[in-house]
Amino acid sequence: MAGAVNPDSVSTGARAMFFMITPNESSFQKVEDVPQYVQQATPFFIGLMVLELVVGFLKTGAPVVTLSDGLTSVSAGMISRIPLLFMRGCELTAYMFVWDRYRLLELPWDSAWTWWIVFLGVDFCYYWVHRLAHEVSFIWAAHQVHHSSEYYNLTTALRQSLTQQFTSWIFYLPMALIAPPAVFAVHIQLNLLYQFWIHTELIKNLGPLEWVFNTPTHHKVHHGRNSYCIDKNYGGILIIWDRLFGTFTAEKEKVVFGLVSPINTFEILYVQLHYYLYLGRRSTTFKSIGDKCLTFINGPSWKPGKPRLGDHLDNPKLTGQEVPHYPNWSLPLQMYVIIHFLLALGTYQDVFDNKMTLSQFNMLGMTGYVLLTITSMGFLVDQRPRASVLEMLRCVLMATMQRYGYMKPLLPTLAVTTQAFVSLSLLYWALRSFSQMFSIRKKTD
Ligand SMILES: [Zn+2]
Ligand SMILES: [Zn+2]
Repeated sequence: MAGAVNPDSVSTGARAMFFMITPNESSFQKVEDVPQYVQQATPFFIGLMVLELVVGFLKTGAPVVTLSDGLTSVSAGMISRIPLLFMRGCELTAYMFVWDRYRLLELPWDSAWTWWIVFLGVDFCYYWVHRLAHEVSFIWAAHQVHHSSEYYNLTTALRQSLTQQFTSWIFYLPMALIAPPAVFAVHIQLNLLYQFWIHTELIKNLGPLEWVFNTPTHHKVHHGRNSYCIDKNYGGILIIWDRLFGTFTAEKEKVVFGLVSPINTFEILYVQLHYYLYLGRRSTTFKSIGDKCLTFINGPSWKPGKPRLGDHLDNPKLTGQEVPHYPNWSLPLQMYVIIHFLLALGTYQDVFDNKMTLSQFNMLGMTGYVLLTITSMGFLVDQRPRASVLEMLRCVLMATMQRYGYMKPLLPTLAVTTQAFVSLSLLYWALRSFSQMFSIRKKTD
């Protein structure tokens, strides 16, 4: 059963999004031959997000995605994959290390049995990765990123953690004792891709499929902050693990999405890292060394004297009338943010496409520009006091990159327009920063 898949095939790419792919077309002997299914899925992510926006608008008469929240989610997804520019994924690296040195037997890579065993194994391990990401606070510090949106739509699926990959790898290692890395490399990607389409409120009950598969209705409950939703429905592709291990619940009352304590910000580094700082601060409020340690090991709702996972009834009560954090920002600023975000997205794609030919220095520079852009956009959306200065510095970097040919226009025909736009942006934010500084100085005089 040789790997006869054409990685560029639209049909294969589309079917990979829904786990509708056969062992015959996705079995490979070497890890190097495994397609980058997730990387190749970008057009499908965009296509399905646009489709959700259109269908959602036609069905509800209102946009199902807001610009501030959607951009933050996509930015989180971009950040989460940056380590892959510099190294192979942690999960696959650790897996190959164990396989090379400690494997007990070798399941044949070209057998459909192996393919299905690895599918079940990856999904089973994912259940435990995910469950512990909710039940152990220092892993939750990474995973809370995915739950920090107060909306539930396809962009939420992309809101991934930068740091979760550094802890999740350990859970898959038992499989490395028997199953070839190339089969694992296929399933770890297909499992992640399947979880994209279930992040929508537009698909309702799917009948008998709800018994076996994780579906939009089951995963919607997982994103709820109502007491009955907390620590439920961890499954990846299959929901049977939740039914087996007692963590399944169906939707009851209206689901309110997001974290128990919403963060009310779109600043991307805060979204990614704030919980680590919170845990550090929280641990200092306890006197005993034991309680300080348990802050990191027990569940996020834990308090001294309470069970390991805490008591969810202690969480803030919901009324069902909660309104997501929604900043009031002008239409021209929204247009500005969209254009600069798209320019950074072009550079991001460029780095991934050319990572084999770019020098480390250039890769770091381009990645730094992308990071600075999505950070600065968050500052602008939040209308932070230092947003003007940060944006001015970012425009300086952008103009430098443009000068040396490291930033492409949105379209080749728009080269001159983009150049003028970048210069005007720099001028605007420079003037605004200076006028801000001048008015502050005037006030203090
Ligand atoms: Zn989760
Ligand atoms: Zn999710």
